[in-house]
Amino acid sequence: MSWLEVKVCLRREASEAVANFLMERGSTGIFLEDPCAVSNIKGDDLINLQVNCQHDLVSVAGYFPLKDKSLDPVIPELEKFINSLREFRMNPGDCFLALRIVKEEDWENSWKKYFSTVKVSDRLVINPSWIDYQPDLNEIVIKMDPGMAFGNGTHPTTMMCLQALEAQDLKDKTVFDLGCGTGILSIAAAKLGAERVIAVDNDYLAVKVSKENCRLNLVGSVVEVYQGDLPAFLWGIDGLPEGDVLLANLSSALIIKIIPDMIKLGRKEGIIILSGIIRDRLDEIKERVLAEGLNIEEINYEGEWVSLIVKK
Ligand code: SAH
Repeated sequence: MSWLEVKVCLRREASEAVANFLMERGSTGIFLEDPCAVSNIKGDDLINLQVNCQHDLVSVAGYFPLKDKSLDPVIPELEKFINSLREFRMNPGDCFLALRIVKEEDWENSWKKYFSTVKVSDRLVINPSWIDYQPDLNEIVIKMDPGMAFGNGTHPTTMMCLQALEAQDLKDKTVFDLGCGTGILSIAAAKLGAERVIAVDNDYLAVKVSKENCRLNLVGSVVEVYQGDLPAFLWGIDGLPEGDVLLANLSSALIIKIIPDMIKLGRKEGIIILSGIIRDRLDEIKERVLAEGLNIEEINYEGEWVSLIVKK
């Protein structure tokens, strides 16, 4: 299988907006190359390191299946989007766009150099499967081989989910991972003590990669991975349990669409962790959440991204 790599080089302040655009248009993964993001220093704070860094140019790359017809309008729309950024007081700088065809085999090897061990919270460490890591006694290591799926743990939206997840008592709990990508959140939930994890993604590659990663982490018997389109897929599963914790690191549009389904799915007083929300859409999401009678427990920010912890 071949992919179109759509790479934009631009100033850091506009990078999250472009990453979000690529994701909403169907990019399977996002790569952010930031010379200042030192993510492999154990215990260090990524954000502080970025603030002190002199380099301002980063690159954001999205990946689209080459044969997909829906790809045709993406490039002209992306150009328009970049040209409109200044209207939203974001300066992309002297930015440029580069396209490249990548074969899956080449891609799998080329991205490995950008991914190393990341400590995401007090206890959780994400470690690429090809790197040897000796954890401290209190650390929980999630081994990852992301392949083409989204979610190697370094994206702020994933990190915020992992941090929120770590703060929950998951013992004997049922967790839903809606849009599981690499399975990273499901694996974290299982390793944090969840009894049952149900993971869903509509992308067959994500499902394949999630299953492999679950096996790699020895949680294959706790995490059930399904391929299906949300939300309809959920209501076709027989005997679906109520969820104690629901994870949704998705686009804002999809989050808004599936809020009623998440309410049906969650048990009373269950927790819903919403992530993948770009700041501009926060008010709209808050409004929907409150209108549906949910309580907002926490709002967390990381750059342009926001996550919400909501209680039923
Ligand atoms: N949970 C991972 C991945 C989040 S990316 C993490 O936190 O890092 C969002 C994922 O949702 C992608 O893998 C995408 O394929 C999936 N997705 C997007 N729309 C979907 C839909 N309608 N139904 C099911 N999965 C969907």
